[in-house]
Amino acid sequence: MSDDFFNSDMRFFLENRIDWPRYLRLKNGAPVDAAGELEDWHAILRTAADICTEIAPMARAGWHDEVVLEDGVVRVPPHIAKAYDLLKQAGLVCLPVSPRWGGAGSSMFLNSALLEMLSRTDASLMTIVGLQGGAAIDIEKYGSDELRDYWLPRFTSGEVQGSMDLTEPNAGSDLGGILTRVTEEDGRFFIDGSKIFITNGGCDVHLVLARDAATFEQSKGTTNGLCLLLCPRVLRDGQTNGMRVSRVERKMGIHGSPTCAVEFEHAEGFLLGERGNGFRAMLDLMNNARIGVSAQGLGIAEAAFHQARNYARERVQFGQPIIRQPLVKSMLTLMALDIQAARALLYHTCTLVDVCDAIASHLASDREDPEFDRAALQKEYEHNHQLVRFLTPLCKFLATETASEVARKGVQIHGGLGFMAESAAGQYLADSIITTIYEGTSEIQASFALREMAKGALFTLLDDTKIQLGNLRQRFPEQTAQLDCGIEQLGATLPSLLGDPSYALLNAKRVSEMVITIIVGVELLEQATVSPERTVLASAYINRKILEVDMHARRIQSGDVTRLERYDRILGLTD
Ligand SMILES: Cc1cc2nc3c(=O)[nH]c(=O)nc-3n(C[C@H](O)[C@H](O)[C@H](O)COP(=O)(O)OP(=O)(O)OC[C@H]3O[C@@H](n4cnc5c(N)ncnc54)[C@H](O)[C@@H]3O)c2cc1C
Repeated sequence: MSDDFFNSDMRFFLENRIDWPRYLRLKNGAPVDAAGELEDWHAILRTAADICTEIAPMARAGWHDEVVLEDGVVRVPPHIAKAYDLLKQAGLVCLPVSPRWGGAGSSMFLNSALLEMLSRTDASLMTIVGLQGGAAIDIEKYGSDELRDYWLPRFTSGEVQGSMDLTEPNAGSDLGGILTRVTEEDGRFFIDGSKIFITNGGCDVHLVLARDAATFEQSKGTTNGLCLLLCPRVLRDGQTNGMRVSRVERKMGIHGSPTCAVEFEHAEGFLLGERGNGFRAMLDLMNNARIGVSAQGLGIAEAAFHQARNYARERVQFGQPIIRQPLVKSMLTLMALDIQAARALLYHTCTLVDVCDAIASHLASDREDPEFDRAALQKEYEHNHQLVRFLTPLCKFLATETASEVARKGVQIHGGLGFMAESAAGQYLADSIITTIYEGTSEIQASFALREMAKGALFTLLDDTKIQLGNLRQRFPEQTAQLDCGIEQLGATLPSLLGDPSYALLNAKRVSEMVITIIVGVELLEQATVSPERTVLASAYINRKILEVDMHARRIQSGDVTRLERYDRILGLTD
């Protein structure tokens, strides 16, 4: 694991684990210059890595600097503004948007690699760039031609920034609680209400989720009847729109990321997607953002690991560097393994998203390509899409929990120094925690994954996995046998889970971890077929995690819903 921001794992995945010629042919049609494209992507990530190296010292030194609200204007700390400008000059602030509007039309993999690097250098900066691409892509997908032509070039040039405004005092994990109201007046839409915790809330373009006044009462408490609206701070005729930031929050981490309370007072908004069906459009943005936050978690974990490993090499106690102490070595090895696991799942998920996107492009075009059968592609799309819905929450759950655990170990390895206010290790820990909360908490991700499992995604996944294991068996007999055993144990837990939804929810994290072990174990073995030196990593991961699969299986099978009744008694919740 080198210190380079454009690290060897990224390069390995980029060069070996994705069928780019097929992706490009599906996305853009023949002819394909995959080598040329790959060279361009290398250049983009190399440039990003160089900028990250340049801004890293400023990010560490300015970590305590807070965002401020001055005369209604939100001001980010100077190091964030400077870093954003460098990225803007390099054309890196909005990669995913189509070249038609000045973007790079980048794959999810490429964008995710960029966000990971940015997070490794400055988790606050990443929130601004992540939202820029996320909001723009939603406008590209759901906006009218007029909205796209006006706003998207401004997003890709970095002239404007975006935010995603969902949360309200009574609508956090449960967006059915949204009370912000949108009213139609003579074909125009006006928003009234209050949003809280809005990242980059001082920006120019807000994507706001609001409840349609026409169906307000009957849709209250549900996600029906919600509209997604593009709400600019300044209208196109130059008038200030009816919105303002009323407060900027102080936080335990990501100080350079603006977190704002935003008031809407008869603010004009422009519909994205269908009226009343805004939750669906917002889900796209949220799913992309979940992958973005997974990349953020991975970047923070990577930073914490490098910081800790370098420190452990230098710090001498009992006459030797502490990295020689078995317990320290073990902590560092676990950090490295967990990072590799999160990376394997994230990159695998990105690949599935990219294939879905490329197939969708081909199917939407009138291209006739003898390489592809439309009916088969449609089937492949549905198959992959089901997996993406299942793997995205698992990915967010794993990468962000990994970030917190890795960063916590990083502090431990630094001893007392890790607890000092200036300690980079402490900063990574503080920054890591929010990743497990925003874009849906870890508990919400695990329960989403459970819901997708119940809809059949687990069986689709296991069918694929068994084929992969069949192909890997001869080369890795021991490891594949362990994973076969894990699949059996997972299957054996299903009857206990199917019986009672509350008991299933109680075990959502355990089941998620079991599934993750299987997917990641197989992915690491696949990597080892290309690069045999990765076998040691795959074996170590499988050996370690398969024990936890066994433990989870026993725990799930040994209990029932009476466990929840015991919890009620312990918590004093019984009358
Ligand atoms: C720094 C920061 C930036 C943010 N940026 C944005 C933004 O840009 N846009 C935006 O709209 N929002 C943003 N948020 C809001 C964020 O998405 C929410 O805080 C988050 O979704 C959790 O909602 P909540 O805080 O209301 O917690 P709650 O929903 O009240 O949850 C509290 C606890 O209960 C648990 N819980 C709740 N329901 C369930 C359930 N069904 N099953 C199991 N456990 C459950 C949660 O996991 C959590 O542990 C941001 C928040 C922060 C702190």
